[in-house]
Amino acid sequence: MSSSIMEKYESMEYGPAPEDASEVVKWLDAHGRAFGHYIDGKWTAVGAESFETKNPATGEVLAKVATASAEDVDAAVKAARAALPGWQALSGHQRARYLYALARQVQKHARKLAVLETLDNGKSIRESRDIDIPLVARHFYYHAGWAQLLGQLGVGGFDSEDSGFRGYAPVGVVGQIIPWNFPLLMFAWKVAPALAAGNTVVIKPAEYTPLTAILFAEIAEEIGLPAGVLNVVNGAGETGAAIVAHPDIDKIAFTGSTEVGRIIRKATANTTKKLSLELGGKSPFIVFDDADLDSAVEGLVDGIWFNQGQVCCAGSRLLVQERVAERLYEKIRARMETLRVGSPLDKAIDIGAIVDQVQYDRIAGLVKTGIAEGATCWQPDISLPERGLFFKPTLLTGVSPAATVAQEEIFGPVLVAMTFRTPAEAVELANNTTYGLAACVWSENINVALDVAAQVKAGVVWVNATNLFDAACGFGGYRESGYGREGGKEGMYEYLVPVLTHAPVEEKQILRLRPSDSAQDDKSSGGVGIDRTVKQYIGGKQARPDSGYSYPVFGRDGRLVGEAPLGNRKDVRNAVEAARGMSAKWSKTTAHGRAQVLYFLAENLSLRRAEIAAELAAFVGDAQALREVDVTIERTFAYAAWADKYEGSVHNPPMRMVTLAMKEAIGAVAVLAPDEAPLLGLMSLLLPAIAMGNTVVAVPSERAATLMGELYQVFDTSDLPGGVVNLVAGKAMELGKTLAEHDDIDAIWSFRDEAASAMVKAASIGNLKQVFSNDGHAVDWFDARQCEGRQFLRHATQVKNIWVPYGE
Ligand code: NDP
Repeated sequence: MSSSIMEKYESMEYGPAPEDASEVVKWLDAHGRAFGHYIDGKWTAVGAESFETKNPATGEVLAKVATASAEDVDAAVKAARAALPGWQALSGHQRARYLYALARQVQKHARKLAVLETLDNGKSIRESRDIDIPLVARHFYYHAGWAQLLGQLGVGGFDSEDSGFRGYAPVGVVGQIIPWNFPLLMFAWKVAPALAAGNTVVIKPAEYTPLTAILFAEIAEEIGLPAGVLNVVNGAGETGAAIVAHPDIDKIAFTGSTEVGRIIRKATANTTKKLSLELGGKSPFIVFDDADLDSAVEGLVDGIWFNQGQVCCAGSRLLVQERVAERLYEKIRARMETLRVGSPLDKAIDIGAIVDQVQYDRIAGLVKTGIAEGATCWQPDISLPERGLFFKPTLLTGVSPAATVAQEEIFGPVLVAMTFRTPAEAVELANNTTYGLAACVWSENINVALDVAAQVKAGVVWVNATNLFDAACGFGGYRESGYGREGGKEGMYEYLVPVLTHAPVEEKQILRLRPSDSAQDDKSSGGVGIDRTVKQYIGGKQARPDSGYSYPVFGRDGRLVGEAPLGNRKDVRNAVEAARGMSAKWSKTTAHGRAQVLYFLAENLSLRRAEIAAELAAFVGDAQALREVDVTIERTFAYAAWADKYEGSVHNPPMRMVTLAMKEAIGAVAVLAPDEAPLLGLMSLLLPAIAMGNTVVAVPSERAATLMGELYQVFDTSDLPGGVVNLVAGKAMELGKTLAEHDDIDAIWSFRDEAASAMVKAASIGNLKQVFSNDGHAVDWFDARQCEGRQFLRHATQVKNIWVPYGE
C-alpha cells in the first residue's frame, strides 16, 4: 500500500469506500433475523422448515427464512384467488395509484434495498444502487401507466380504446418463480406487469436471495396494497414445483435455467396454464475490425464482468474479426488488470462475490473443462479478498466453436473468445447456439451493424452498447432462451388474454365432423361424386406419400369422397426440410411482396370458388361450404392487408438510444388444422403465419384431407414460392407429434382437441418451441373477432429489440 500522497497520486490506487450497512443490519435484527411468508397480507411464523440465507462475500448467515410447503403455497393461491375480484373491480386509475405508490416507496427505500441486495447476493453496491434498484422503480412507474391506460375491466374485457388492449382481460392468478442474479429486478419485472393488468400474484424468490422480496412485501404492506394481491412464499425448487403444479393458478412466469424451464414446460403440458419462460443464453459479443476497440473493451466490462457474469444476457462469447483480434485481446488484458474484485459493499469495486459455493464450483469446473479442451486461459494478477466467493475475471482464447465453454452457459466472469473473418461468418458463429437471448454488435459502420443485428437470432441486440434495459423495451429470447417478453407493450400480453378465447367454454369440445352427421335440415349435395386421390404437397410439388398408402375420406353422408395420402415421419421430414429451406428467403421477401402473393391467392380462390365449395360441401353441407369459401377469401384479403401493416415500433428509453422493436417471423411453423371448418380453419392458421414471413408445414383436417387437392392448385397458380406452404395429410396426432419433436420447427399451432394441445406441448419440450393452441376450446372460425387479426399475427412474430445509440 502506498504511503505518501505523492505515491498515491502516482499509483492512482483507490482506498476502500464502504457503504454503510447499519440500517439494513438494524432491519434484520428488528426481525430477529427470521422471516416467514407474506400471505393474504399477513406474515407467517418461521417454523421448523427453514433455510439460511448468507452473505456470499463473507459467509455470514444473514437470516433464517421459512420454507413454504405445498400447504403454504395453497394458502397463498387461495388468498390470491379471493383477492382477484376486488382487485379487478378497481378502475385503471385506482390500480395505477397502487403501482405508483410502490414506485415512490422503492425510491424512498432505495439505499436500504440496494444494500440489502448487495449483502444477500454479493453484487457490487455500485450496481445495485445505480442499476438494479432504479430500474425496479422505473418498472413500477412504467406499469402504473399501463394500469391507468387499460381502464375499467368489464364483461367484455378492458374498456379503453387507447391502450390497444380493448377486449383483453387479466389472466387471473399468476405464479411466478425468479432467480437469484437480479433478485429484486426480476421481482419487479414479474410483479409490476401482472398487477397492472389486474392479476393477483404468488411469487417465489430464489433460495439464495429472498431478502429484498421480503422487504418489498413490507413496502406493499406500508402502502396498503389490498391483502392477497401480492403473496410472497419462500423456499427452494420444491416450493417452485408446488406453484407450478397448483391447479388454481392460471399462468406461470419463470426466469431461470433452461433445464428447469423444460421441467416446468413438461409439468404444465397437460394444463391450460399460460406460460412464459425467460431462460439462459450464450450471447455473442461481435467486434468488427472497424469498431472503436476501446469502447468495445468498456462494453465487455459491462457485458461479462457486470454482476460477476451472472447475467442471462451476458456477452459471454466474444467473436472478434481476425485482423484486430490480438490487438483487442491485448486491450482486454490491460483493462482486466485494472478491474477491482472485492467487498461488494465497497463503492469502488467492479466485481463482487459469486452468489454461492455451488455456482463458484460450477464456474471453476467449466474453466477447467475449457482448458482441457484446448483453450488458453488468462487471468490478471490482481488480489482477491482472503475469504468469500471471489472469482478472478477470466479470458479464454483459442476456443473452438464446438467446445463446451463456447456452447454452455458459464454464468460467471469468464469471457470466451474466438475469431471470424467475414460478416457472414460472424453471423454463422453468433447463431451457432441453441440459445437466442441477446447479442452485441460493435462496428462504426451502421450498415454492417444493422445488417448483422437483423440476422442474429436473438431477442435483444445492442449496437455499440451492452446490457441496457428499460421497462419500455421488451426483453426475452428466441429458441431455447425461452418465449414471451418482459417489459414494453409485448410484455403486457403475457398477463392478458383476449376475452373471447378466455370465456369459459362449458362444453370443452370441438365440433367434430361425423359421417353420421347426415344432413337432414341442411341438404347436402351428397358429395361431388368424384373419387379422387390427392397427394402430399411438399416444396411446391405434389408428392406421393412415403408409405405408398392412402386412406379413404368420407363425406358427411358416409359416401366415399376420395383418397388422401397417409403421411408418415419421412413425409414430415421432407416437408420440414422444404419449409426450412425456404424460410430465410420468404422472411426476407418484402412485406409488400408477401401482400401481393396473398392478394393473388385470394383472387384465385375467387376464381375457383364454385369448385372448392362443391368439394367442401361433401363435408360440411352446401350452406356452410359457400360461406366458408367466401369467408376464406375475405380472410385472405385481410391478411394481405395486414402483411405490410403489422409493424414494429420505436421506443425511447431514458438514454441517448432509440430501440427499434422489430417484428420478425418465427421461422418454420407447424399447423394442426381443425376438422370443423376444414378450409377456413386451415387457412385462418396458414395465412397469418405466411403473411408475417414464416413458412408452414400443415396437417389439414384428417377427415377432409382431399380438400388439399383444390388448395394446392390454387397455391400453384398464385406465385406462392414452393416450400412456403407444405401440406402433409394423415393421422393428425401422429404427424403432429413428429412435428412437435422436430428441432427444425420453431413453433407449433394446434387447433384441434384438448388431447392434441397437450400432446404438442409435451412433445415440443426438446427445443422449447412456442405453442399456440386452443387448449381444446371450441373456436368459431367464422367470427373474425375471434379468429383473425392481431392475436394471430402476434403469435406469428417475435419482437427483436435493437438498441441503437445516437450522438457522440
Ligand atoms: P434454477 O433454474 O434452478 O432456479 C431458478 C428458480 O427456479 C429458483 O427460484 C429455483 O428455486 C426455482 N426452481 C428450481 N427447481 C424448480 C422446479 N423444479 N420447479 C419450479 N421451480 C424451480 O437456476 P439455478 O439457481 O440452479 O442456477 C443454475 C444455472 O441456471 C446457472 O448456472 C445459470 O446457468 C442458469 N440461470 C439462468 C438464469 C437466467 O436469468 N437466465 C438465472 C439463474 C440461473 P431455488 O433458487 O430455491 O433453487
